Amino acid sequence: TKLRVGLLFGGRSGEHEVSISSARAIARALSWEENVSKYEILPFYIQKDGFWQAGEVAQQVLDTGVAIQNPAQTPNLWTFPPQTAEVDVWFPILHGPNGEDGTIQGLLTLNQVPFVGSGVLGSAVGMDKIAMKTAFAQAGLPQVKYKAITRAQVWSNPCVFPKLCDEIESTLGYPCFVKPANLGSSVGIAKVRSRQELEAALDSAASYDRRIIVEAGVVAREVECAVLGNDQPQASVIGEITFTSDFYDYETKYTEGKADLLIPAALPAAIVSQIQEMAIQAFLAVDAAGLSRVDFFYVEATGEIFINEINTLPGFTATSMYPQLWAATGIPFEKLVDQLIQFALERSK
Ligand code: ATP
Ligand code: MG
Ligand code: MG
Ligand code: MG
Repeated sequence: TKLRVGLLFGGRSGEHEVSISSARAIARALSWEENVSKYEILPFYIQKDGFWQAGEVAQQVLDTGVAIQNPAQTPNLWTFPPQTAEVDVWFPILHGPNGEDGTIQGLLTLNQVPFVGSGVLGSAVGMDKIAMKTAFAQAGLPQVKYKAITRAQVWSNPCVFPKLCDEIESTLGYPCFVKPANLGSSVGIAKVRSRQELEAALDSAASYDRRIIVEAGVVAREVECAVLGNDQPQASVIGEITFTSDFYDYETKYTEGKADLLIPAALPAAIVSQIQEMAIQAFLAVDAAGLSRVDFFYVEATGEIFINEINTLPGFTATSMYPQLWAATGIPFEKLVDQLIQFALERSK
């Protein structure tokens, strides 16, 4: 009998459309000849308002790739479709808040059915850039200087705010990056070069998240490493992202032709192995499982490597960095999806 895979996609984040594309690529891979004899897909689509759709509606979103734009008013978010009871293993492919941050993982844990990817702790620590950096620092991983801030410091205290900005200017300098702590796809991130821009960016970041991080800007190449496994995770070859825009912002990420992925990146062998080792350390530091993409800054002139972040549910479309890195390492997309499901089953034992 086939294993029924609950493919869970869409979700209540700005990365809803990316999630649909990722799910479509995974569904195609599960329909590939060697997988189709093992797995049956049960699609579950989470609308932008959080309502779960199964069966025909979910299948239609999967087939067409078109999101349900203005969902009808839904009376009770906690009414899950009856098909959820038929799932043998979940494959959540949701990006950002309410999907990559431990919330869904908590629900699936309560459900007592194995699922692909990190559990509650790994997802939550990996999502929150402040918690993530604390875990990285504890593991001895090199990072750029940063400062953690709360919304309350930005909004509720007019006496504290100027001092806060003074401190950022003196310790981090310009340019620096202001980021909401719990987002992805560069949403809400600003590169700032002056006091005026800093104040505006902090105010804007505070509208996205209670927790904010400000980082010293670094001029470096951007390289990424994919990690796969549970307690003995493996690292892929390294990929590099190049672009001509100011930084790797939302538009650059999602506009065709604005960024190039170079796989493998042209790097000295010693740098490659250092990055791979650091990627595995980062994965273990946050207690990730199954998969993660770990992003780095490489300063060519000095040979310095700084870890930027971990993404526990990275983009998984046919052209995304994560599956492409594994393809270049010798695991094609179809096999990768199969292995991830097997790692989910292994972890639940
Ligand atoms: P993802 O979509 O990978 O989850 P994200 O929203 O978590 O991204 P970051 O990776 O933290 O955001 O930052 C987005 C981009 O901003 C980076 O890829 C890089 O181009 C730029 N950037 C972020 N922090 C810095 C920094 N400290 N110095 C230089 N550039 C930076
Ligand atoms: Mg990220
Ligand atoms: Mg992300
Ligand atoms: Mg990133």
